[in-house]
Amino acid sequence: MTILFISDLHLSDDRPEKLDLFYQFLSGAAQDAEALYILGDLFEALVGDDDNSSPNPEIFKALSALTASGADLFVMAGNRDFLMGKEFEKKTGAVLLPDPHVIDLYGEKTLLMHGDLLCTKDVDYLKFRMMVRNPEWQQQFLSKPLPERLAIAQQMRAASKEAMQDKIPVIMDTEQETVEKYLRDNKITKLIHGHTHRPAVHDFLLDGNTARRTVLGDWYQNENVLICDKKEQQLTSIYDLIS
Ligand code: MN
Repeated sequence: MTILFISDLHLSDDRPEKLDLFYQFLSGAAQDAEALYILGDLFEALVGDDDNSSPNPEIFKALSALTASGADLFVMAGNRDFLMGKEFEKKTGAVLLPDPHVIDLYGEKTLLMHGDLLCTKDVDYLKFRMMVRNPEWQQQFLSKPLPERLAIAQQMRAASKEAMQDKIPVIMDTEQETVEKYLRDNKITKLIHGHTHRPAVHDFLLDGNTARRTVLGDWYQNENVLICDKKEQQLTSIYDLIS
């Protein structure tokens, strides 16, 4: 049996081929696994559990089919889909995870994060994150009618795209100091995250111990899945799992 990790799919109608790829993955490799972890930005945009704009309902259905097949599904919010809530869990059978979250991965304590909290050079974004993760802000936002929420989200995405053009790449990557702080605080040497769209396995020394940070790929050009079993962890192209 295996445990699978993916992130940053950014699913939307703009890239139907990636939706198809995701559905194939869910009904194949994911069903054969004991658990699937999605570490944020599954949706390009989700402005609430009632966001039934296409392709969200099909995604809910596909996730629900996976959990009905017996696989465990764990979903962490990203910066695009942080408004998933209780209804999402009910609709899909998924369990929402806080960020950060510690799991026992075949006997190895492992820290899971989306990854945006690690990009501490991006001060403006972290301020924005604080605002939109505030329960009061969320309650107010969710009380607005769906079309208004969709319009606001679109504006926010446009503003974020513009802001990103002015940021040098290093601002949008993780800061090693922050990575080490999260590992130390949790007394852990293993971390899996996404968000940066820079898939890699980074081995380094942390206070004399070997530590590992595994970064998942995005579903724009690095569609990969981290396959874990008792013996090893392998960052694998999703296309190797689809026959
Ligand atoms: Mn992200």
